[in-house]
Amino acid sequence: MTILDPPTVDAASLGVYDSITDAIGNTPLVRLNRVTEGISATVYAKLEFLNPGGSVKDRAALAMIRAAEESGELLPGGTVVEGTSGNTGVGLTLVAAARGYRSVVVVPDKTSAEKIGLLRAHGAQVHVTPGGRPSHHPEFVRNVAIRLAAEIPGGWLAGQYDNPANPDAHRTTTGPEIWRQTQGRVTHFVAGVGTGGTITGTGEFLAEVSGGAVQTVGADPETSVYGGGDGRAWYIESVGHFLHPQTETDEWPDSYHPDVVDRLERITDVEALTVLHRLAREEGLLVGGSAGTAVAAALRVARTLGPDDVVVVIVPDSGRAYLSKYFDNEWLGRLGFPLYHAPSGPVVGDA
Ligand code: PMP
Repeated sequence: MTILDPPTVDAASLGVYDSITDAIGNTPLVRLNRVTEGISATVYAKLEFLNPGGSVKDRAALAMIRAAEESGELLPGGTVVEGTSGNTGVGLTLVAAARGYRSVVVVPDKTSAEKIGLLRAHGAQVHVTPGGRPSHHPEFVRNVAIRLAAEIPGGWLAGQYDNPANPDAHRTTTGPEIWRQTQGRVTHFVAGVGTGGTITGTGEFLAEVSGGAVQTVGADPETSVYGGGDGRAWYIESVGHFLHPQTETDEWPDSYHPDVVDRLERITDVEALTVLHRLAREEGLLVGGSAGTAVAAALRVARTLGPDDVVVVIVPDSGRAYLSKYFDNEWLGRLGFPLYHAPSGPVVGDA
């Protein structure tokens, strides 16, 4: 029994759902008003941190679990397994919890206590492995996940890097949402590239529905190999791809189709952080580092465009998870980045 009478009421339009997983997606587009000063194109940010698990990865998590249920790879009472320290783990454990599965997440030992706590809070069993192992090593995070998925009865490996349900999630939800929300007026789509799921699925949908009119722009850390960098380390988490120094054969993930990208903007850590700080202070948007990279690319593109152009940029997660890094003067200063000065000065009423 629900409070709604299905034939007469559109439950989703009232914001009433039967499950938390139904609240994934349909995130708002919010226009950027101040960081766009001097730009005549319109720039909208798609706020993926408003998903229930706090990130864009909820979409891929739900789609991968649904596809595995449909194919029979994940059966009732089964266990969802993944190797990830990031948002995908949270999305998977959240969806697993809501649908009655167990979850096992393998993380490298550099993973913060907060992130491990978040996974455990959703009931996940967390396996910590030594970090920095090359991709062929048995202790490499993804290899441990593969082994556990095979050993655990009813285990199923999500495998976001080569699971087609990851980009499909965006082909069927993120892309159509952007098209509908802009009433077909979007001209440029900008996103960072991690597994490539977001940019591939969304970009392919928008190119198809617009007859090739929508341009897809990838935002990549300057030294990432996606954009032709040398693979040197960078500080912005969750985007870009590097070759492990001990393996020269690392391949790009199947979930990234480079053909979808019309152009790739290479963004330095400093540029991403500068934009990130402005978004928090001038737009009221406390967002994660990869959003700084993506919005920096979106602004660079928008500067070259006219008043009829509409740019949509993905904001993958919130800045709350990074307060001790990107918004912390001690961290910024230690690494030689410009400091983040929260406005200071006399508090009204102070003597
Ligand atoms: N930003 C953040 C914060 C993420 O967690 C991810 C996922 N790794 C991305 C960007 C990149 O998204 P995708 O994997 O779909 O390319």
